[in-house]
Amino acid sequence: NAPTAAPLAWRVTPSDHARSAEQRAAILGGELGFGNIFTDHMVAIEWDKARGWHDAQVRGYGPLSLDPAAAVLHYGQEIFEGIKAYRHADGSIWTFRPHANARRMQHSAARLALPQLPESEFVESLRQLIAIDHDWVPWAPETSLYFRPFMIATEAFLGVRAANTVSYLVIASPAGAYFSKGVAPVSIWLSQHYARAARGGTGAAKCGGNYAASLLPQQEARAQGCSQVLFLDPVEEKYLEELGGMNVFLVYKDGRIVTPELSGSILEGVTRSSILQLARDRGLRVEERKVSIDEWRDGVASGDIAEAFACGTAAVVTPIGELKGEGFSIGDINAPAGEVTMAIRKELTDIQYGRVPDRHGWLVKL
Ligand code: PMP
Repeated sequence: NAPTAAPLAWRVTPSDHARSAEQRAAILGGELGFGNIFTDHMVAIEWDKARGWHDAQVRGYGPLSLDPAAAVLHYGQEIFEGIKAYRHADGSIWTFRPHANARRMQHSAARLALPQLPESEFVESLRQLIAIDHDWVPWAPETSLYFRPFMIATEAFLGVRAANTVSYLVIASPAGAYFSKGVAPVSIWLSQHYARAARGGTGAAKCGGNYAASLLPQQEARAQGCSQVLFLDPVEEKYLEELGGMNVFLVYKDGRIVTPELSGSILEGVTRSSILQLARDRGLRVEERKVSIDEWRDGVASGDIAEAFACGTAAVVTPIGELKGEGFSIGDINAPAGEVTMAIRKELTDIQYGRVPDRHGWLVKL
């Protein structure tokens, strides 16, 4: 499991079915949405117990060849990441805090008994993909190229133990503006029957199983007219944890901004930690602690809580208009998005798109 000392040697094999410049322009000029379209190439790095990380490749995007007994297909030994590349006005391409994602992937790997990819190789894998697929980074405002790095257990073996062969892969998907009609507050559904994580479980890791567990509650949320599901802590079932794919914040009228502490069962969002910093910079009082549903309800009723929002790489910052659950609702879906929410959203996207100085040194050129 020791990180490979020498940098990996990369083998680049251009795709034999890459799309033409015209085809690419037509695709990028259309409705991009999220996660539907993939670039011409992908990254693959192999790992085995004897050799460690080896055989780093950039090759044409295409199907994987997996043995039907591959451990990932049976026991879900898999982790992933999500991080974007942003096109600046001068055409240059940047990513945001990639070392934070690299470290998070190492933590996820440790929990899933997968090997740790060195931080430098994680960042290099994004660079390698951009070197060949840079024209796939869209230019339109608020668009980006979403990278999906992931790691899967490939060993063909049905015994239940950590696999001895693993693949790390990166695919990339041009992503449209998340809110095509402007940022609008969303309704959130409180999941009172289902948890996504357990004490001592994998909630703090970015592994596929957590998302599999969130699909049914997410369907329930949709059926209730809500766009996302909010999970409570798995122990007391009283404190906010996070949404299916985003962290959550409450903004008090008195200048406090509150987010659930890292409980061990929520994901440490890179957006969350960036917002905590930007909030401190603005002179807001930042609190990472337990936040109960009762606090939210009472705070909204008394007017002390002025705003709520969710945050993550995909949608950046999403105002929460209302929280609904069985027999109750908090907030007003027709109220406009909060001022602090929108100011933080603007500041973060201004940094990501190079419209303001990057005073924290968060951007890395690809
Ligand atoms: N929580 C969960 C469960 C997520 O899937 C994500 C998205 N990665 C987040 C929070 C937000 O993390 P980030 O800001 O790093 O995208």
